[in-house]
Amino acid sequence: MSTSAHPMHLVVGAGFAGSVMARELAEAGHRVHVIDKRPHIGGNAYDELDEHGLLVHRYGPHIFHTNGERIFQYLSRFTAWRPYEHRVRSVVDGRPYPFPINRDTLNRLYGIDLDEAGAAAFLERIREPREPVRTSEDVVLNSVGHDLYEKFFLNYTRKQWGLEPSQLKAGVAARIPVRTNTDDRYFTDAFQAMPLHGYTKMFDAILDHPRISLELGVDFQDVRERFSRNHTVYTGPIDAYYGYRFGHLPYRSLRFEHEHLPDVAWYQETGTVNYPNDHAYTRITEFKHLTGQAHPGTSIVREYPLADGDPYYPVPREENEALFKRYEALARTEPDVTFVGRLAQYRYYNMDQVVGAALAASRTLIESLR
Ligand code: FAD
Ligand code: UDP
Repeated sequence: MSTSAHPMHLVVGAGFAGSVMARELAEAGHRVHVIDKRPHIGGNAYDELDEHGLLVHRYGPHIFHTNGERIFQYLSRFTAWRPYEHRVRSVVDGRPYPFPINRDTLNRLYGIDLDEAGAAAFLERIREPREPVRTSEDVVLNSVGHDLYEKFFLNYTRKQWGLEPSQLKAGVAARIPVRTNTDDRYFTDAFQAMPLHGYTKMFDAILDHPRISLELGVDFQDVRERFSRNHTVYTGPIDAYYGYRFGHLPYRSLRFEHEHLPDVAWYQETGTVNYPNDHAYTRITEFKHLTGQAHPGTSIVREYPLADGDPYYPVPREENEALFKRYEALARTEPDVTFVGRLAQYRYYNMDQVVGAALAASRTLIESLR
């Protein structure tokens, strides 16, 4: 594939991690060959028109949000944006409540009329202080106490992870804030927007460079001996790279059930509705809210958590992180391979964090290749 005069680097995976790495290497003058085992670019952020012409996210809802202005500006080179602030309702006992829990959630759920200071005092009364705060159970009980824990968090977490909140690190539930104001946005980041023409178009632009070549439907495991290359950037699961020699790292999977409703203008009031206590799925997302697309019908997706299947989430637990550290130690002994991304670094990264990690890793790599 490469000649010694123009050494080629190989990037495994065309998601955020691989695409940003490839772009940065190419702009620094390197030739890069990108492979992905899927038939498309974009990784889990891939979007496409469904057969009814609605833009949908094949692998579940992806909402871009970041406080990193540098990251937002970097991606703005490859896409225009549509401002979008995500909102979520959580259905408890058949009624939808603002989620994350805010003052309106408390007032509607308990039939009370708290102001901001009242809500803070109310939470102070019902919370069950925990010290130290180690697990996701600790996080939620410590901030809102057992009634709200049981209504909004316990069963959702069991469904999503197949684990008790006490078995998951604090960081999982700590993704969800608790508010005493009436802000019902899911995220409060400074930059919240959707790529105006979708994620896939943005990835097209990132990968559109004369020094980048792309091959889809190619599994690294089948070709790893075939490519003569200089450096490898690997963004798949790190345990697979090493042939699972220390055992499998658990990754949580999902089944996505997409549905189109032909004569329904709007299916639900917000982009996503969570179902902590009912159904085998965790949530339903209606894409028109996210994309702003005008269409007489609507398309939705339900997410059913699974133990086996494509790897979507690292599972943040002490023992998994210990196992990851063993793979990471191996990785450190390989100067010719960079491991970056949500699967390769086994971190519960959002998209912007993956972009940040890839920009940092590419700087280090480009420096070392000089
Ligand atoms: P991936 O996107 O997983 O890309 C890795 C690529 O490597 C894949 O395309 C894979 O096919 C390829 N690959 C793996 N192994 C091989 C191999 N052996 N050979 C060839 N190719 C291989 N983040 C947000 O910021 N906001 C959200 O709203 C949000 N929602 C999400 C919802 C869901 C349901 C999920 C699962 C994730 C969500 N995320 C969200 C997280 C986001 O998807 C990730 O942070 C991001 O896509 C990770 O990028 P990545 O490049 O590290 O990995
Ligand atoms: N969570 C919950 N109830 C909810 C939403 C989230 O208990 O209604 C918990 C659950 O453990 C979940 C975690 O908070 O896995 C993080 O939620 P988030 O919406 O950030 O998950 P993601 O969008 O990454 O799937």
